Amino acid sequence: MKVPQFSPWIGEDEYKAIKACFDANWITEGPKSKEFQEKLLELIGAKYGVFAPNGTLALYLGLKALGIGAGDEVLVPDFTFIGSTTAIEMAGARPVFIDVNRKNFQIDLSNADKSVNKKTKAIMPVHIYGTAADMGAVVKFAKQHKLLIIEDAAQAIGVHRNNKHAGTFGDVGTFSFFADKTITTGEGGFVVTDDENIYNRLLYLRNQGRKDRGSFIHPEIGYNLRMTDLQNAIGLIQLAKLEEIKKRKNHILHLYQELLANTPGITFFKPDEGADWIPFRVGLLLDHASDLMDYLKKYEIEPRTFFYPLHRQPALARFGQNNDADFPNAIFGYEHGVCLPTFPTLTDEQVNYVCETIKRFQKGKD
Ligand SMILES: *Cc1c(COP(=O)(O)O)cnc(C)c1O
Repeated sequence: MKVPQFSPWIGEDEYKAIKACFDANWITEGPKSKEFQEKLLELIGAKYGVFAPNGTLALYLGLKALGIGAGDEVLVPDFTFIGSTTAIEMAGARPVFIDVNRKNFQIDLSNADKSVNKKTKAIMPVHIYGTAADMGAVVKFAKQHKLLIIEDAAQAIGVHRNNKHAGTFGDVGTFSFFADKTITTGEGGFVVTDDENIYNRLLYLRNQGRKDRGSFIHPEIGYNLRMTDLQNAIGLIQLAKLEEIKKRKNHILHLYQELLANTPGITFFKPDEGADWIPFRVGLLLDHASDLMDYLKKYEIEPRTFFYPLHRQPALARFGQNNDADFPNAIFGYEHGVCLPTFPTLTDEQVNYVCETIKRFQKGKD
């Protein structure tokens, strides 16, 4: 039996939605984008929101709208997808890596005071693996050090912490609609804020330095960071499926937990009390993680490692923060973590097969 790491859940309805754009003869940002934007804002509970071509550029837009640029430093967890950091680099600023906790690998600020200096302008918590970071701690830390907050909620659409949606605790929050995110438009992103000034800056930045198309007078420097109605028509269908996606992903999670409950040596990634979890992946922690992944691949199951710590990334070496001793938990996650598939169309039979294979491997290790 083949079990891929991910498979997008798109079908006839998404296809028809694209066809409808052709029938209406409107393919750039237009009525479908407006409708998707309104529905997203309603779901997220934010005042303003603009699209971006993808999650990385959503972060870039957010950083630029906050005025982050050359000479500035931004705190970012050491354990995240590299896009969080490259957006900071693209804005001209310097990323400063902060270790994460060992339970659910969200940013851990207990030792972060020493990373703040005069250049530190912002903090970018990342809501990793479909749950929410400890935003109480982040907001407190940001207030104490007078930092702006930009939340990377790429993996956290539909996720709340204490009934407040991820991405709405700080100055700016961003989302991704890449193919393996909770809902997808193929490629896509969204930036939210409650601040009218930031919103205005976002509008200029994403639309060539003007508020409306059709004018050739550009009061500011901006870029083209728009989406298309073709993508956002897909987004509307996906958003309507969000409850079903949530249900399906949680069913799969509970099945993994049940089937592996009595297997010694395995710990599950565990969200905090009060935080939702729409599992982006199901994370396991165990010794011999890399041997298990090799074993799974032999049986046509496609696992993923946890994220490779940013401080060890060859591409980020020039930021000079390569001391392993500063990041014990990010390293622990990378060395012990295995991501199991959790996509909505994964069958119970496939989950059973994955668990049987893991149990066989673990038995051999005893
Ligand atoms: C996917 C992702 C991004 C980047 O989003 P893209 O749409 O792929 O550019 C950034 N941060 C995190 C945590 C992500 O998972």
